[in-house]
This record gives sequence, structure tokens and C-alpha cells, in this order.
Amino acid sequence: MLESYKKVWAIGYAQALLHWDQETYMPVADAEFRGIASSYLTLISKELLLSLKPLVEKYAKREDLDDVQRGIIRVLERKLRYFENVPEEVIKQLSALLPVAQVEWRKAKAKNDFEAFRPYLERIVELERRVADAWGYEREPYDALLDLHEEGLTAREAEEIFSRLLPASSEILKREGFPRESELEKVEYRREDMERVNREVIRLIGFPEDKFRLDVSAHPFTVGLSPNDVRITTRYEGRDFKATLFSVIHEGGHALYDLNVDLKLSTTPVGKGASLGIHEGQSRFWENVIGRSWEFVELIMPILKRHLDFMANRTVEDVYYYFNTVRPSLIRVDADELTYNFHIAVRFHIERELISGNLSVREAPSRWEELYERYLRVRPKTYSEGILQDIHWSMGDFGYFPTYTLGNVVAAMGWKALPDLKERVASADFESIKTFFRERVWRWGAIYTPKELLRRAYGRAYDVDALIEYLRRKFLA
Ligand code: MG
Repeated sequence: MLESYKKVWAIGYAQALLHWDQETYMPVADAEFRGIASSYLTLISKELLLSLKPLVEKYAKREDLDDVQRGIIRVLERKLRYFENVPEEVIKQLSALLPVAQVEWRKAKAKNDFEAFRPYLERIVELERRVADAWGYEREPYDALLDLHEEGLTAREAEEIFSRLLPASSEILKREGFPRESELEKVEYRREDMERVNREVIRLIGFPEDKFRLDVSAHPFTVGLSPNDVRITTRYEGRDFKATLFSVIHEGGHALYDLNVDLKLSTTPVGKGASLGIHEGQSRFWENVIGRSWEFVELIMPILKRHLDFMANRTVEDVYYYFNTVRPSLIRVDADELTYNFHIAVRFHIERELISGNLSVREAPSRWEELYERYLRVRPKTYSEGILQDIHWSMGDFGYFPTYTLGNVVAAMGWKALPDLKERVASADFESIKTFFRERVWRWGAIYTPKELLRRAYGRAYDVDALIEYLRRKFLA
């Protein structure tokens, strides 16, 4: 069966490379043909997968399977279930609608015109509900969409996480004394200088340079082709240098995971990360737990001073507080560690209500404002800085946002379980940190469900208390 699966894997490999190329070097004029090529590859992949069904069914009945084999069957059964249950017609309608919706979302955001995007969003919500019904759920349709993004996650569990995390975060927010802004946010840099900084930081963390690329794209991302070829991107906005640096460290965290999945699993259905939440847990560990720590700032200070002339008279303290300003704000992607999860909670509630039908798309903007007011005491003045800010819904990604908060939870679980982290970072001992994660999380690929993997690694599934403890330790120290 694994031999036959290699064809599916090979198409996935080609698609990942096409996707990377599309976001980095493809001439814009080719978007249409690239779209056609890519959708045919998806079709071929689906046919090949469906042809594996008799084999999957045969293996699923066997009782002598080891963990790897069971994992492979589990992952394949989920893929088959999707193609078999979700009507062809719904998939077709979505794939016709979403590219248009993305264009319309972009225009609507630029013009601050929610009404222009509303009919598209209504259509998407309708189709997502049909996907949910087809996939199946126990309690509510939104559970299905969560499960599709994070295997085994339910709305109740997500609710439980937020209901503990948000009050604790509000309490910390009231008491912390971190600065609201930093003068360094406004300082401009030369792109060549930051390219050098990024390169040196990558070298410091210790990326295998023969298996790794760093390029530039509008939205930073990671593509793992194999354990020997992982590519990340960043962007250079010309000011506020932490943005490009943290993109590199964040995507670098994703890359480390992809690079360290057990070689024996490559080309199989489990030769990849366990889930979006676990993946995000790795990237946020490197970005936030390490990258925004005092010890890390100390470590990179010489690199910053070497390449950025405006850093000459800055201290470790200046940079630490620049990396860690805390301010309730309107824009998710600019949010700090402490307020970030409120942004996700807003989206979680709205998605859940839209999918259950308790909220209409028409009412969504005012619900958005109400929730921002309640959580962060800020209120958007425009749709562009409110409900139109994220691309996700225009891409049909309902159920994706909560995995960002899960990522914060998973990162904090790593923080809690890893002894002497400060000392390791202070001495640039990143190898032992990587060994820790390689053994506990990375090498297992998708053999286990996310919850099972976390239980094996840390003794518990999503442990929100670890995140609360981490935030208290950091912001109330
Ligand atoms: Mg990420």
C-alpha cells in the first residue's frame, strides 16, 4: 500500500513546490494556468487516493498493526472520508467561489466596504455548513470544521480553553507594567542589513544550510517538501525590524519540525506534522518563548549592533521591551503574546455562531465590535481594521483560527517541560533544545492524533494552565 501511496505523495510534493514558487518567483501573469495545473493535480491525487480504498479497508481490519501502521490507516481513512462524504458539487462550488471571494475580500478591505464582501461570505458560510454536515459531528456543526483543522478538537474544548485563558489574561493585563510602545517600532532599516541579521540568527539557531532556503514573499510561510528540503519566507517592510526577524524565527520553528520528522516516515501519509496546532506550537515556541526572551535578546545584541547602525546606543533592555510591548489593539497580526488570544476568541465565537446559524453574516460586524469592546476595550472605526482584516474566511478557512491559540498552549507546554531553558538559551545551546523536541514531538510525525502525541510528550492534552503560568511568569515577574 505504501508503494501505491508514493504516487499521492509525489503529487503532494509537486504541489507544494508549485505553491512555494507561486508565492515567491512565479511571474504574476501565470496565475491562471498555475491554478488550472494545480486543480488537475488535486483531481489526480483524489482519484489515486480513492483507488487505495480497498487496501485501506483490508488493513484497517487487521489487529496486528504497530503504531506507525495504525497512524497511516487513521490518516488515510480521514482523507477518504472527506472525499467520500463531502459532495463533489460542494467541493466544486467552493473551488469556483473561493478564488473570486479572495479577490473581492481584498477589494472590500481596501475600500472599507463590508457590504461588497457580504454576499461572498454568506455563500461561503452556507457551503462550510454543508461541509460540516457531510463530515459529521456529535454536538454542533462547528465541531466538524474544528476537527477538519485540528483532529479531535471540539467547540466545547475550545470554549473551555478560552474560558480559563481569557480571565487570567485580563487579570495579568491589569497588573503588568510592560511598555505600550517602543520608539524602535518607527525606526527604518535598510533591507540588506536585515537580510544579514536574519542570516546570522538562522546560523545561530543552527539550521542545516544544505536542507533549507530563506526567500521573500508577501505573507511569510513555510513549505516542507521533505526532511531534506524545507523553505521559509519572510518580508521586509523597511521599518520595525522585529517583524521580519520574528517571521524568520517563527517560520524557522515550523521548518525545524518538518526537518526532524523521522526519515523512516518520509513519503508515507504520516511523514508530516501532527496538526496545525502542534505545528504552530513549535513555531511559537521559537518565536515567543525563545525569541522574545531576555536571554535571546542578550545573545543577538552583537548581531544587531554589527549590522544596524541605529542600534549603536541601544541596550538589551531597550530591545527586550521593544520585542515585548503590550497593548490592546485592533489588529491580530500585530498583537503581543498577552492580548493575542483575545483576537482569536473573537473569531472563534463569531465562526461558531455563524456556522450554527445563531448569527447572520449581516450581524457579524456589530458582534465583532461588541466582542473587541468587551475583551480589549477597543472598537474598530472601520471594517478594514475590524472584520475585514484577515484573509482566512475568504479562503473558506472556518475552524482554523483556534489552532493559533492551541499553538500558544502547546508552546507553553514545551516551556514548562524543558528544564533550564534560560541557561540553555543564554549559552546558545540550541542543539539540546532541538534534541528535546525531536524526541518528544518532531520525530513522531503524524503517527498519533494531536491529543495522543501531547499526552505522550507532556502527560496531558492541550494544557491551558501551562500557558497561563507562562504568561504570569513573563508579564508579572
Ligand atoms: Mg505559523
